[in-house]
Amino acid sequence: MDPHGHVVDDFDARPDGALRANVRKRDDALAQCIRDCRVVKYHRRVQNASRRQTVMLKGYWGRILRVDLNRRTCTVEKLARGIIARFLGGRGLAAWYYFNEISSEVDAFSPANTLFFMTGPLTGTDLPGGTRFQLATKSPETRMYLCSSCGGDFATRLKEAGFDGLVISGKASDWTWLSIVDDTVSFHDARGLLGFTSNLTRDALREAVGDAKAGTLSIGPAAERLVRISCINVDERALGRGGAGAIMGSKLLKGVAVHGSKRCPLADPERVGRIRESVTARLRKSAGAWEGRSTLQYIEPINELGCMPTRNFQTGTFEGASGVDIFAARKRARVLNTGCLRCPVACGMSCEVRSGKYAGSRARPEYESVALLGPNCGVADFAAIVKAHQLCDELGLDTMSAGHAVALTMELYERGLITGKDTNGIEARFGNAESLIGVIRLIGERAAIGNLLAEGMYHVKRVRPEWRPYILDVKGMPFAGYDPRGFHGNALTYGTSNRGACHNIGGWTIRAELQDERQDRYGLSGKGALVKRIQDIRAYQDSIGICSVVCDAYGFTQDPTGDVLEAVTGLPLTSKLLRIGERVYTIERMILNREGIRRRDDQLPERITKEALSTGATKGRMLTAEMYAAMLDEYYMLRGWNADGVVKEETVRKLGLSPRSLWKAANAKKQYSRPPRHFGCDRRCSERGSPTRKDLQCGGSSRPCRM
Ligand code: SF4
Repeated sequence: MDPHGHVVDDFDARPDGALRANVRKRDDALAQCIRDCRVVKYHRRVQNASRRQTVMLKGYWGRILRVDLNRRTCTVEKLARGIIARFLGGRGLAAWYYFNEISSEVDAFSPANTLFFMTGPLTGTDLPGGTRFQLATKSPETRMYLCSSCGGDFATRLKEAGFDGLVISGKASDWTWLSIVDDTVSFHDARGLLGFTSNLTRDALREAVGDAKAGTLSIGPAAERLVRISCINVDERALGRGGAGAIMGSKLLKGVAVHGSKRCPLADPERVGRIRESVTARLRKSAGAWEGRSTLQYIEPINELGCMPTRNFQTGTFEGASGVDIFAARKRARVLNTGCLRCPVACGMSCEVRSGKYAGSRARPEYESVALLGPNCGVADFAAIVKAHQLCDELGLDTMSAGHAVALTMELYERGLITGKDTNGIEARFGNAESLIGVIRLIGERAAIGNLLAEGMYHVKRVRPEWRPYILDVKGMPFAGYDPRGFHGNALTYGTSNRGACHNIGGWTIRAELQDERQDRYGLSGKGALVKRIQDIRAYQDSIGICSVVCDAYGFTQDPTGDVLEAVTGLPLTSKLLRIGERVYTIERMILNREGIRRRDDQLPERITKEALSTGATKGRMLTAEMYAAMLDEYYMLRGWNADGVVKEETVRKLGLSPRSLWKAANAKKQYSRPPRHFGCDRRCSERGSPTRKDLQCGGSSRPCRM
């Protein structure tokens, strides 16, 4: 029981598979809690003083909502026009804010650390895939810059409330949750929600604001205990990697609910409507590739290619892969394709185990989660993986980092480096499904070895240097679900990704390495260029506010085409997207350089550079430190970084990232929304950017237009 007399989760006492029973038992407590939450302690109406100053661009509100938990204040600040032109939105904007406000000395759990949630111009536009937003903050897991992308309803609702971004700083004096209903921001008592799982918190918040579809951020019990691999749940999805959930925990912020009723104006709504129809039709045709498959369809081919992380990356083929692939999923569980708001692709899949020991367990497993909770822990039972995934969801843990932590524990146990005393009696051996579930619980509760694992691999490597050979990470972030010895481009991706060993923002090279005839997956030459290109593409896609899976349908590829961005914003931005992507990736590296990241931090772990794979298609394959260094040199050269991985001054200038250039961008006077005035004429030209008198509708001046 918490101080309010509400039932608090007790994971020790809770029997396996009892989530729904647990929910029923707590119905009364939940209802009471919702009643408590309605007691608004502080209720602030956002000042609209800045509305006059806001950017009148289409596709943006030009308003960023700032919430200070210390003082319980909220303000709206203007979004600088020059910054939009440079960073577009989403990931670019989040990096820009972090660059300006979070110094290298700020600790992840300090009140000075800030959560920057930023949407893009296409977020909330009703376009398929237009649900994405980005988070930037100092990561508790890696102790450096973190950016993370997510879908769900939250970003759409934030845009409907009239904001392009939400910035949360400070630390509340007691557990709080926030509601944002259009221009009204309220601070609520969240003590009654303590111990609630992320999903229960989400439901409670939605009920409290009276909107079953309100966008929500919520954390689970692990984040309350400051477990550094905990995630922020975003509606039914999650900002998984990097431990951002623990930052909300450190700020005593249990959740955020957003409801909005506005529509962001578009430059050409009719054209946007036509694009929506044609893209939806195109996506419907391709949706068959996901029907009943989801990303679980990759388990089989990745295993055959010899790149399946198996028993803590000791081998690249898993003999039990047929027990965890998409066919096993359909056999063992009721599966249902799921998708984001208005997306016809529906690339996700929800699973509910039909029968057996784990009957009733539910989760939405993706390839990464299954690879790292299953084969990487030697577990070949799909039902057990769903159970482990559900437990991670309840606790609010990142499934990928949790999979690594369990695999490390199992290897240490089998090598005799830890014993049952360290695991509270759990026999942590590879393949033991009960151990998988048991160790996840230890992490969520910070019990026994779980207390150490809860600090993340960055910390584990420092306090237990003798375990380093068994830790698979870069910059404190554990690997994604592909063995890089089988795809050397992927190795470079892990090494140079701006948030540690991540396949997403680091550039998912696997498709190109397999399908492009010019690429050899074991080759070294050209990998620097490939990785850079994919990273830049991903950086601009993440800045637009659109899901990367559907980007091709809009023409957001390595040669950006299509007119949706112009139709939404009215600005000719498409041709500049690759440059914007490069700028975003570079400013992120400048942040990392400021935080002390150099070439030594871009290195791969010993297991990859010193041990050859022993089975399957990749048998005998290794990526030595010399081979890796050759790829890294090419990459640094193409990026315009020096040999130590520091961004060169000329690159900073070339990309418009010098302090002077950024200052000018942030203080630019140009009003994009208004037709430019001509020199010598006080009339406005409806043909923005018309360069000569001949083109001017007003015919008022022979001098060039200011645009
Ligand atoms: S493709 Fe998948 S992740 Fe992307 S918007 Fe559609 S359902 Fe969501």
